[in-house]
Amino acid sequence: MREIKPNLDNTLRKKLTPVAWKNVKIVDGFWGPRQEINRTVTLPAEYDQCKNTGRIDALKLKWKPGDPNKPHHYWDSDIAKWIEAAAYSLALKPDNEIEKKVDEVIELIEKAQYEDGYINTYFSVVEPGKRWTNVYVMHELYCAGHLIEAAVAYYEATGKRRFLNIMCRYADHIDSVFGREEGKKRGYCGHQEIELALVKLYRVTGEEKYLKLSCYFIDERGKTPHFFEAEAIARGEDPEKSPIKESLNRSYLAAGPYAYFQAHLPVREQTTAEGHAVRVMYMCSAMADLAAETGDKSLLDACETLWENVTKRRMYITGGVGPLEGSERFTFDYDCPNESAYNETCASIGLVFWAHRMLQFEGDGKYTDIMEQTLYNGVISGVSLSGDSFFYANHLASHPGLYENKISRNPRMLPERQKWFECSCCPPNLARLTASLGEYIYSKSEGEVYIHLFIQSETELELGNKRVILSQKTEYPWDEKIEITVSPEEEMELTLSVRIPGWCNGAQLRVNGEAVAIEHYVDKGYFKLKRLWSKGDKIELVLPMPVEKIEAHPSMRNNCGRIALMRGPLVYCLEETDNGKDLNEIFIPAGSTLSAHFDKDMLGGIVTICADALIRDKSRWENQLYKRAETPKEKITVKAIPYYAWSNRKVGEMIVWMQGE
Ligand SMILES: [Zn+2]
Repeated sequence: MREIKPNLDNTLRKKLTPVAWKNVKIVDGFWGPRQEINRTVTLPAEYDQCKNTGRIDALKLKWKPGDPNKPHHYWDSDIAKWIEAAAYSLALKPDNEIEKKVDEVIELIEKAQYEDGYINTYFSVVEPGKRWTNVYVMHELYCAGHLIEAAVAYYEATGKRRFLNIMCRYADHIDSVFGREEGKKRGYCGHQEIELALVKLYRVTGEEKYLKLSCYFIDERGKTPHFFEAEAIARGEDPEKSPIKESLNRSYLAAGPYAYFQAHLPVREQTTAEGHAVRVMYMCSAMADLAAETGDKSLLDACETLWENVTKRRMYITGGVGPLEGSERFTFDYDCPNESAYNETCASIGLVFWAHRMLQFEGDGKYTDIMEQTLYNGVISGVSLSGDSFFYANHLASHPGLYENKISRNPRMLPERQKWFECSCCPPNLARLTASLGEYIYSKSEGEVYIHLFIQSETELELGNKRVILSQKTEYPWDEKIEITVSPEEEMELTLSVRIPGWCNGAQLRVNGEAVAIEHYVDKGYFKLKRLWSKGDKIELVLPMPVEKIEAHPSMRNNCGRIALMRGPLVYCLEETDNGKDLNEIFIPAGSTLSAHFDKDMLGGIVTICADALIRDKSRWENQLYKRAETPKEKITVKAIPYYAWSNRKVGEMIVWMQGE
């Protein structure tokens, strides 16, 4: 097995660089209010939850057996993600109260740090003396990764180095514990996260040792003899009889129990997405980062193979991934059940992270399309419109009977968003993505600027030695029009690459009022226009958004004979509140009129879709459960709302995939 080594002269280099979140201001439109709610509602609510559940006080390391609020082994990561979200938010809009809270938490983290750099509340008070003895399950490196990401973000947001220094000391300690050198543990974390975090730490500090450590973790994964077994033996256990291995054996992973951790094979040999979905997403994000930094094409090739498997065979129309409750994992190709869909919010967030990294290599719109589809559907369905309650699982169909009768007792599966979870990874993950969304809109490369997402925003960037201001004015995804203004400080030549989404047919574009034949200029999903630009040059883009009926692959058994409605990037659903009960009965016939209307008073202002539909005459079903198939159908009109907005009114039925043709 070849080992990757940083090779900064290699030819495989990523071509694009994202314009940093700090340099992009999102204003109004669809996302401006969301960022504001994130700042004013979500961040304080999540802080209160961390405080009230004991997560923050746990950092004081005062907990003793018998006390309430026993620290959990992943608690540090929840706080870390909250700090990271707060950091992005602070840079966009200073807020003394939030900054004070963050500084107080950082002080606790500093005090909780051991002399040798180690930080972990669980192993400080619950199982002292057992640190690094069970990295297979216990998330120490995962927690460290989130703390590192938070420290990098806080440094970039505020310029304060204290937290970054704390985390460099911790990373140095980890570097002294793990590796191939004599006396080190030849291991890696059961839950990937540290790998991508170390790349961030390398980028901000320039310290190559962090990049090398990340390479090591990725490269070591799945090798034999298996580290997880060596670790069990070191604990004095029989690896075959360890409780986790036994429970994984019972969960029937086709590729073996270690596939749950993507450790069944070395990462370059993995061709299908197996096991825990969030871990796959974080691992692939790190692999893409390392390919970009080291030029290791074999890592990018592996990412591309896994990408094809995920997005062509294992992804829901909402960008949800990982259908199975309990083990939160992938199953098999085309297995996308609707009512029982797990689709952890974090997994969709991870898919956005991965897509964003992949698109920076060649500026290929196929990645941007999935990034957008996931963002507008499976990601933001995870948070209520009010900003203070969250979905962990994101079902594609729901019936209250499933929960009223306690068929699923798992709070993560409930059809109502919850204020918090015992394992609360998703809420702060949503907060950090929302606060840093600016980073996903634009990229630059030599003499070229990319517009990936249509979000009302403004950015000032440097190309060569010249500055250029780019701005977008749009009500997307409700409205088809996007106005882009290019304002270089002085006349300059540059290529502007504007994404033409894969879902769109017949896009029209005008430059300073003059129509341009788009088809001559589109490359990999981007319209590329190289010209001399002067201050105030305008592009008007129109992306027609008819309501489309979408069908699923014939092998996707749950959706056979069904259609979903989409308009632009948004997936739609039917809710009981608008359409009554028995939503599965609704049939959308061929030729049904589908019309879209903006309703400013509904669910924060949305475009609804009205469709002609058919249902069987219910009056003919007195006291019968089955009868000859001859019930006449009657015409009705149904109203669909964007999927992300479901469950913001009363709990009731919901479906995305309707009977239809
Ligand atoms: Zn989560």
